[in-house]
Amino acid sequence: MPSPLPPKAERLDAFMARANARYYASKPLLSDFITAPEISQVFGELLGAWAATVWQNMGCPAQVILAEAGPGRGTLMADVLRLITRCAPDFAHALNVHLVETSPLMRQAQKQALAPYAHPTWHDRIEDLPSGPLILLGNEFLDALPIRQFVQTPSGWHERYVMDEAFHLVPCNAPALPDGRKLEPDTIVELCEPALEIARYLGLRFAAQPGVALFIDYGHHSTLTGDSLQALRHARPAHPLEAAGEADLTAHVDFTAFGATAQQASACIYGAETQGAFLRTLGLMERTEQLATRATTEDAAILRDAAHRLAAPEKMGHLFRVMALASPGLPSPPGFMKGADV
Ligand code: SAH
Repeated sequence: MPSPLPPKAERLDAFMARANARYYASKPLLSDFITAPEISQVFGELLGAWAATVWQNMGCPAQVILAEAGPGRGTLMADVLRLITRCAPDFAHALNVHLVETSPLMRQAQKQALAPYAHPTWHDRIEDLPSGPLILLGNEFLDALPIRQFVQTPSGWHERYVMDEAFHLVPCNAPALPDGRKLEPDTIVELCEPALEIARYLGLRFAAQPGVALFIDYGHHSTLTGDSLQALRHARPAHPLEAAGEADLTAHVDFTAFGATAQQASACIYGAETQGAFLRTLGLMERTEQLATRATTEDAAILRDAAHRLAAPEKMGHLFRVMALASPGLPSPPGFMKGADV
C-alpha cells in the first residue's frame, strides 16, 4: 500500500538533480563510464563534418553559434573543431563556440581541452544561448536530466518519492504524459520535464531563427513504459538511491515525446535513427580505414575495434539513437536516411 508522504521525502526528479549536480561537480574525469567521443576520435570528426554541411545548408551565415550541451571532458568539441579548422576554414572563421555546462570542474576540463582551438563562452542552460544562427550538439546530455516516475495502481495514480535510500509512493493526479503511450497497470511511466522544455524552446527558436540541433543518447523511439533509471558507480551498476552523488544517474531518453514536443513547437525532426546507421552513413568505416592504414598494426586494431563498438547493433549501434531538430525549410541534415524510423 502506498505510504503517506514522509516529512523529508524528495520527489525523484529533485533527488536526481541533486545527486547528479554533486556527481558532476566532483568527478571531472567521468571515470565511471566511457562515451562515444572517448572511444574514437572519428566520432567527433564525423560530427565536425556534419556541422560543416549543416552550416552550408543554412546558407553559410557569416556568424554562427556552434554549441554543445554537456561537453564532459571537452573531447567531442575538440575533435569537431580540429576537423573544422583543417577541412572547413570558412566555417571555422564564422563560428563562435558556446558550451552549456553547470559543473565548474567540468568547465575547467573543457577550457583546457579546447585551448588550442577556441575560447568558449559557458552557459548554465540551453535557453541562455545568445540569439542567432545555431548549430547545437549534445551527446549523452539528455539522459542526465532529472525524470519523474509515475505508476497507476488499483487505488489510482502515484508518484515516486525518495527517502532514506528507498522509494515511497505518493498519491497524485494523473500525470500529463505525451500522447500515444500504452499504459499498463502497475508499470512505471517516466517523464523528463527538462528535456521537453528544451525541445519546446528549440522548436520555437528554430521557427524564428535558423538552427539545427543534434542529440545522441541512450534511448528509445517507440513510446515505452518501464523503469529506466540506472546508476553507475566505479564503472559498475549500482543502486540508484544509495550514496547520492557518488554514482552517475541516467534514464533513457524518450525520443518520441522529445520529437513530438519539438514538432508541436514548429521544428522539423529527423530520426530517431540508430547511432550505427547514422555513423555509417556519415562515413565511420571509411574514415576509420583511412586512419588505420596510416597507423601501427596495434593502433589500427584499436581504431577498428572502436568503430565496431560505436556501430555494431549488439554494442552501441542500436542502443543509442540520434535525433535532429531543425528550422523548417532547411535541407535534411546529413546522416538521416529518408523514411528511416527504426
Ligand atoms: N557529452 C560528454 C559527457 C556526457 S556526461 C561525452 O559524450 O563524453 C554529461 C555532461 O552533462 C557532463 O558534462 C555534465 O556535467 C553535464 N550536465 C549534466 N547535467 C547538466 C545540466 N542539468 N545542465 C548542464 N549540464 C549538465
